[in-house]
Amino acid sequence: MSTKVYNFLDLVDIPIVVVSQDMKIIDFNNAFFFLSGADKDSPGKDIRELSIFKDLRLELTELLLNKDRSRRVYLHHRDSVFELRLTAQKGDDIYGERVNIIYFIDVTRYMNAEKELLRKNRELMIANSISNIFIASSETEEVYGHILEKCMLVGDFGLGGIVVPSEGDSLIVKAQRGFSLAFNRAVSSGKLDRFIKSAEPPMRILDRDEIEKYEFLIKEGVLFLVIVPLISGGTMLGYLLLGNRKERVFDLELASVISLIGNNVSLVFDKIRLFKEMERLSITDALTGLFNRRYFYEALEKEIERVKRYNASFSIVLIDIDDFKRVNDEYGHLAGDRVLQVLADILRRSLRKVDIIARYGGEEFILLLPNTGKEEAEVIANRIREEVSRTIFECTSEKGTEVLCPVTISGGITTCPDDFVDADRLLSAADKAMYEAKALGKNRMILFRKEPSIFEGGHK
Ligand code: GH3
Ligand code: MG
Ligand code: MG
Repeated sequence: MSTKVYNFLDLVDIPIVVVSQDMKIIDFNNAFFFLSGADKDSPGKDIRELSIFKDLRLELTELLLNKDRSRRVYLHHRDSVFELRLTAQKGDDIYGERVNIIYFIDVTRYMNAEKELLRKNRELMIANSISNIFIASSETEEVYGHILEKCMLVGDFGLGGIVVPSEGDSLIVKAQRGFSLAFNRAVSSGKLDRFIKSAEPPMRILDRDEIEKYEFLIKEGVLFLVIVPLISGGTMLGYLLLGNRKERVFDLELASVISLIGNNVSLVFDKIRLFKEMERLSITDALTGLFNRRYFYEALEKEIERVKRYNASFSIVLIDIDDFKRVNDEYGHLAGDRVLQVLADILRRSLRKVDIIARYGGEEFILLLPNTGKEEAEVIANRIREEVSRTIFECTSEKGTEVLCPVTISGGITTCPDDFVDADRLLSAADKAMYEAKALGKNRMILFRKEPSIFEGGHK
């Protein structure tokens, strides 16, 4: 075997090495010398012995044996990536034997560009798939479960949870996958509040050592956990928990995936918040903050369904302010508005959380009292009526002076299923009873009765 070093190889700045059929180094250029550290003792040695090919021995052998032409072999060296290309020279003039010439094409830039492209693609995929969930879901509560499943899928997590602050600032589980029910119990009992809330932006990573400090995580078999605080516009919206029951290396790649997930979930949370606010506004009366008529109808239909299915009952009280026109005329419209607001406050204060209070029209209010029979509804209605008649409505007139408006209310009461099991009939029954109250002298509550009333009788 001849091992001649010809200078012409050095004219090329691509690393080149010439190897014999039995994989021995014959020749190389300066560029290869800088790349591989081969020296004057290298010729005659097996190329696979060079330390830069340490992790590439099999691929290199296959390449030289020309087994799979389509296969690409890459050498990762320092911060660069080289693609190994091979040309076989038959009976070579220079080396006098059949040789293989390997040259090393620097593909670092393409590789990085490809990686960047893949990364961008994945970012888009994550962003799209998470934000699309919201568009596809009609029920906002369902969204949380869908978001969580997507996050777990894109980040390869077997455990996931979304917890949000409730009233009073304690945390509640909106969705969880993979944890045991003990997790839900632990969160709702407040046991995990401190642990979860200790996570600071952008995320808290708990590796095995850290996890071993928490009994509940050990019990759940968690080996990797990350807690991502979800923040938008400075508001803490909740926390996203993602974990695995296997150990995981937390590297830059995983960090970027998680922060991408976190940002996108925060965006969806923001959308949910806006959506809920819009939903709230669409069922709220602007002046009093009570539900509006539209919402009341929906609630009434639902309650009737409940009566049909579960043998339940409920009552409706339709309230109308007595001589409200006079309040407006005497004290001005502004005072009238104030009266409506104060009356709304009295209703809110007097009733239970389950009761629905709505502004039915201008100076008419309507109450839906679930699981409340006729007599009980009458007691409640009269209690409110008395409270109103006792209340001193302090209002500001249009001239800016303080005025005291005396106000009384009248109302009609009807009960389902006792009177009717139909929304329209119930409402007209309540209306009828209310007008009877007006005719009987106002400041009173009248129960609807199917048989001809005294009032109707009087007109006959
Ligand atoms: P009755 O005792 O028979 O119910 O007499 P009333 O004067 O209350 O009844 P009427 O239906 O004649 O008048 C209702 C008045 O309520 C007329 C209207 O100007 C007033 N009103 C309706 N909506 C509002 C409101 O939002 N603000 C104010 N200030 N007044 C309102
Ligand atoms: Mg009226
Ligand atoms: Mg009125």
